[in-house]
Amino acid sequence: MSEHDHNSFGHSEGHKSKTARPVGFRRPFFRRRKVCMFCADKAIRIDYKDPKLLLRFITERGKMVPSRITGVCAPHQRHLSKAIKRARNIALLPNLVK
Ligand SMILES: [Zn+2]
Repeated sequence: MSEHDHNSFGHSEGHKSKTARPVGFRRPFFRRRKVCMFCADKAIRIDYKDPKLLLRFITERGKMVPSRITGVCAPHQRHLSKAIKRARNIALLPNLVK
């Protein structure tokens, strides 16, 4: 009798062991920074004539990467979006997304 009970519990135990899974490791592009890269490095200037720099902040579809991912602070993010818009106007950057 007791043996039968043990078997039925063993079944649920096997299910339990599968719930464990790794946590963390969800950083697609940039590592999280305390300060944004423009604040940290004053040598970097946000320039609409510098598509190489701006391309780091837009996706392949031409959409701006959110500051949460790039780690850029709000004022610099605004500065960036202005530069990107200007660069699009003079066709330095792709304007795929309206
Ligand atoms: Zn900044």
